[in-house]
Amino acid sequence: MRISREAGTILRMRADAGRFAPSPSGDLHLGNLRTALIAWLSARSAGLEFIVRMEDLDRVTSSVAHEAAQLRQLAAIGIDWDGAVVRQSERFTRYDEAIAQLAAAGCTYECFCTRREIREAAAAPNGQPAGSWSRQSGREGNVLIADGAYPGTCRGLSDADRQQLRAVGREPAIRLRADGVVVSVEDLGFGTVRGAVDDVVLRRNDGVPAYNLAVVVDDAAQGVGEVVRGDDLLASTPRQVRLQQLLGVPTPRYRHVPLVLGADGVRLAKRHGAVTLADLAARGIDADNVRSMMAASIDLTEPGEPVTMIDLLARFDPNLIRREPWILPIDLQRSEL
Ligand code: GLU
Repeated sequence: MRISREAGTILRMRADAGRFAPSPSGDLHLGNLRTALIAWLSARSAGLEFIVRMEDLDRVTSSVAHEAAQLRQLAAIGIDWDGAVVRQSERFTRYDEAIAQLAAAGCTYECFCTRREIREAAAAPNGQPAGSWSRQSGREGNVLIADGAYPGTCRGLSDADRQQLRAVGREPAIRLRADGVVVSVEDLGFGTVRGAVDDVVLRRNDGVPAYNLAVVVDDAAQGVGEVVRGDDLLASTPRQVRLQQLLGVPTPRYRHVPLVLGADGVRLAKRHGAVTLADLAARGIDADNVRSMMAASIDLTEPGEPVTMIDLLARFDPNLIRREPWILPIDLQRSEL
């Protein structure tokens, strides 16, 4: 039985919502919108609530104007959501409490390294580039290797070392003491994926909580039972599942959705031309056409057939989502339909 979505710091309640969690750093493009549509269809067709969360930890790129624009773009496609849209920038207390919980359990350490030092330590012949880490993100067999694993320089610092570093003005980041644990995740799209968890940053040295920590705290606090998101985050999922285990919160069901590529086979980006709803509208492709295009990409319509969200809900079958990226059927630079 549900208590209240916001009850408790890191909640202990039945998790039953789906979600979309964009970073409000620009207009949503076709790739973001397609992931949002699939997440919405997946949640709504199962009778789940659907929430939108603004992941605005990066105060430089995030803005309230982008946030409002993204909400308008979701609505234009027909995506609705339950409750208030929460902002991560307003939830630091929750993240600090979770970090304190991990620290109390001995699962964190202070890291004084600069980015440059990390790069250099990892490159040094006797640096500790962490034997089993690959420096590349991606899938290797069925074991995921996270990008840029930390070489462990500060893992064994003594109190005196730390004091010395503070005395010269260094502020520490907080890292997870992961002990290289390997975590298995059951992904509804990709099957079983195993990942070696690295000593991921939990709080940056400027005091800002890190994405992996914030996302876990929020998914738990907001009762998210289903995470449908782009497969660029598959490699981070073992870290997030490890954090869930350590914080004692449930692991949601995960479904990672392949990204959208431009007609040139490269991940969709602004340089592909008309990738946002405004760009497309200016070329005569309205939000209804965009919905149809996205629906055709998951075999819920024939290309060009008009569809409503109600039609899509009735037709949705998660098994139709392919494992391959969706390559846009139009050249956005020329916007040929
Ligand atoms: N905020 C992330 C992004 O925009 C998504 C995080 C998530 O879905 O877990 O890429």
